[in-house]
Amino acid sequence: MPKPLNTVITGSTSGIGLGIATSFAAEGWNVMLNGFGDAAEIEAIRAGLEEKHGVKVLYNGADMTKPEEIRALMSEAETAFGQVDVLVNNAGIQYVVKIEEFPEEKFDAIIAINMVSAFHTTKAVIAGMKDRGYGRIINVASAHGLVASPFKSAYVAAKHGVVGMTKTIALEAAEFGVTCNAICPGYVKTPLVEKQIPATAQERGITEEEVIKDVMLGPQPTKKFVEVEEIGALAVFLCSTGANSITGAALQIDGGWVAH
Ligand code: NAD
Repeated sequence: MPKPLNTVITGSTSGIGLGIATSFAAEGWNVMLNGFGDAAEIEAIRAGLEEKHGVKVLYNGADMTKPEEIRALMSEAETAFGQVDVLVNNAGIQYVVKIEEFPEEKFDAIIAINMVSAFHTTKAVIAGMKDRGYGRIINVASAHGLVASPFKSAYVAAKHGVVGMTKTIALEAAEFGVTCNAICPGYVKTPLVEKQIPATAQERGITEEEVIKDVMLGPQPTKKFVEVEEIGALAVFLCSTGANSITGAALQIDGGWVAH
């Protein structure tokens, strides 16, 4: 395992991606951040992580719907760090509406950002990982990569696709010291989830409080949201040598949701 690890995390200006970036920086690993947001806020995050943990933290705002921008992001990381050892495919969006009303451009964007971007990022770095005999590809899928909910046709399709792609990459890379796993969180209270509370309330004809209690925490036996720090800790473990034999797995971190 190279030291320090050089990592790229897509969609890391917020939520789970930022949680993983913070956990990685705390391990002393260099991080390439990516994602959208206010430029000053992103710079404050970047500089804050760099200063607190004494690591290199870079930022590239590549749009995950644009393959050329994704390739430029990966190439910038390789040039700046010398190599990419860990890739976390995390960028994602959500849209909640019944399929007959699902806007075509929203469906396409969810498939592009939540699934196809992971193909482009992986394609750019996996050969180098295999040559060096160490690499970690971590795909942030979802409990919705394993089970479905109504009104999320694009998201559930994309996340099931990511779980499938994870298995294929794991098989192709297994003999070369490179693992590929999917992390499948239940509900985590990030901006992505906050935004779907009113939409879900409207689709189901219930209150926002009922959405949190019955729709989100109802199926999670712990009755608690998953914390971003818990997902960061799992991602750190997957990068360790203790996780050398974990590959092709879809790891649930969902308070028991899909155990039902
Ligand atoms: P979030 O909205 O807090 O973060 C999403 C990140 O992706 C942000 O940094 C955003 O700027 C970035 N992003 C969005 N569109 C992009 C694009 N076109 N190009 C580049 N970056 C883009 O959401 P989150 O909840 O932290 O979600 C992160 C991942 O975790 C997603 O893949 C999501 O599906 C998955 N997930 C979330 C939950 C949950 O409950 N929050 C549960 C399971 C899985």
